[in-house]
Amino acid sequence: MRLIFLGPPGAGKGTVAKKVSQELGLPQISTGDMLREAAKEGVPLGRKAKEYMDRGELVPDEIIIGVLKNRIIQQDCKNGFILDGYPRTLLQAKALDAFGIPVDRVLHFHLSEKTLIERITGRLTCRNCGAIYHKKNIKPKVKGKCDACGGVLYKREDQEEQAVRKRLEVYRRQTRPLIVFYQKKGMLTTIDAEGTPEESVEKVKIALRK
Ligand code: AMP
Repeated sequence: MRLIFLGPPGAGKGTVAKKVSQELGLPQISTGDMLREAAKEGVPLGRKAKEYMDRGELVPDEIIIGVLKNRIIQQDCKNGFILDGYPRTLLQAKALDAFGIPVDRVLHFHLSEKTLIERITGRLTCRNCGAIYHKKNIKPKVKGKCDACGGVLYKREDQEEQAVRKRLEVYRRQTRPLIVFYQKKGMLTTIDAEGTPEESVEKVKIALRK
């Protein structure tokens, strides 16, 4: 099964994709994680991407399309995958169509802007393993430390309020048109993502059974 998880930053796509990926045995392909990894390694692609990411802007299509293409032709994607954070523009969606690897379903995560801002600005990420916590909703057992690996928790540059507002504006302008694009193809299912990640996982599983 080839799936796209579509939705604004803060919708919980990444957390839900991780759980669904484990349960269905499909690789989770997060373009955001791939770019952050490249930035951490300090390779040219990562350094360039970081400039856009820190500002809350999208990385140019020609860069990200190449990154995605190289990833989905890997052996582990043979039986399917979950795309988490791609496509984000119509051009990226059309490029994906042109790869000749047809996607089965698009799950659109929907929630209010107020919830989104609360979620993202409260988020803390483990510098070591990338696990995600939240100041109020998912507190680590020890303040500032990752439960899983003991790594230091930090707030990503793109999770400061100003960058978050920018990311939401970018979403509205560039990514939201994809909802209609996939609706017209009859591929879209909307998931109410106001609740907890566990609730969203259940809703996704129910949607995928239909
Ligand atoms: P995410 O972790 O999915 O929220 O992605 C973090 C940042 O990575 C985004 O704000 C963009 O700057 C960049 N990014 C990730 N995926 C894409 C994409 N498909 N197209 C353009 N930029 C992307």
